[in-house]
Amino acid sequence: MIAVSACLLGLNCRYDGGDKRDEELLKNIDCSKIVPFCPEVNILGAPRESIDLFETKYGIKAIGSKTFKDYTSLLENEAKRFFEANPDVKIFYLKSKSPSCALSSAKVYDEDCNLLSQTSTGVFTKKLKIWYKRAKFIER
Ligand code: SF4
Repeated sequence: MIAVSACLLGLNCRYDGGDKRDEELLKNIDCSKIVPFCPEVNILGAPRESIDLFETKYGIKAIGSKTFKDYTSLLENEAKRFFEANPDVKIFYLKSKSPSCALSSAKVYDEDCNLLSQTSTGVFTKKLKIWYKRAKFIER
């Protein structure tokens, strides 16, 4: 089974209501085995406020850009729910730069909004990596 960030499949689940359809990926994977996921749309719908990652004294937190609400626990719970429903996923294709889905390209800011890193893992993927020990993770 292959799990894919839903925006890469062309679903309009991004914060702005758009998608990030990846034609090359779609050409090269077996579509009958795909499980799509979008942790943010499950929590907030689309369109929605964007989320940014901040390094805090409590660790990296996913914060809404308008409400300043902390979505970290909700996104982590989405990862748990996904794992419980789909324990047999062998490959993940993950949207790059996403504060939720990125593998190694998410931006993290300090509490004064200074950029600290552009190589971080999204909060959803960070949890997936704990539970799916044998899966392959690929960023797109
Ligand atoms: S990157 Fe992840 S959270 Fe963002 S729209 Fe795509 S699937 Fe949803």
